Amino acid sequence: MKSSYAQWKQKGVGHGTCLVVTGCLPQRYGKILKKEMPEVDLFLGVNEVPNIACHLDDLYGKEQRERRSIAGRPTFLMNAAHLRLISTPSHTAYLKIAEGCSNRCSYCVIPLIRGKARSRGMDDILKEAEILAAGGVKEIIITAQDTTAYGRDLKGKPTLSDLLKKLAAVERIRWIRLLYTYPASLTDTILYTIAQEEKICNYIDIPIQHIDDDILKAMNRHGGSGQIRKTLPGRRR
Ligand code: SF4
Repeated sequence: MKSSYAQWKQKGVGHGTCLVVTGCLPQRYGKILKKEMPEVDLFLGVNEVPNIACHLDDLYGKEQRERRSIAGRPTFLMNAAHLRLISTPSHTAYLKIAEGCSNRCSYCVIPLIRGKARSRGMDDILKEAEILAAGGVKEIIITAQDTTAYGRDLKGKPTLSDLLKKLAAVERIRWIRLLYTYPASLTDTILYTIAQEEKICNYIDIPIQHIDDDILKAMNRHGGSGQIRKTLPGRRR
């Protein structure tokens, strides 16, 4: 698609006076995209989230713009002080507890784009949960590239289970939903916490990816089919 945003920019429609592309794609391919998409003024990688307003200030009102692509080693980790625009229905919101991934599945580019796993401090996550709750959010959906890796990189090594218990104590939150659990790290302790805490939904997202050991090995997935079958209840072959 020839971007309609580019056409808007060309015609000067609305506020479309400059065109900025952000996120994973410019993080990985910004320099190539800069050559291929001359209509774009600026490509920003994942570290630039907190600087977007400054970049826009810099671009607006300039006749001659130096076209740039900015993407350093991925280190950005959001915190509760970052302003968010919640795009989900008002009762529900995602809460990202960590950024990046250290698992290195052979088919996945995310560690190269987002960097190594970096967990947010527990107090910071709880602060954001309180802010969301004060804004009317009843359900928080916990995300990260691998939620079960939460805390491994932090001092004292708090666990996902510790975090879930604290989140369950946030007064106005009624439901907690857990996404992206890595099967080999989905411990009995996490499952026990889910079972014990009334606010944590009886719902779990487990990207098992495959159940054949050779394929799992080729994918560089930890654990194996036996471990997955042990974790999942139900019929065995
Ligand atoms: S755990 Fe997920 S994000 Fe991490 S490398 Fe594997 S597929 Fe990619």
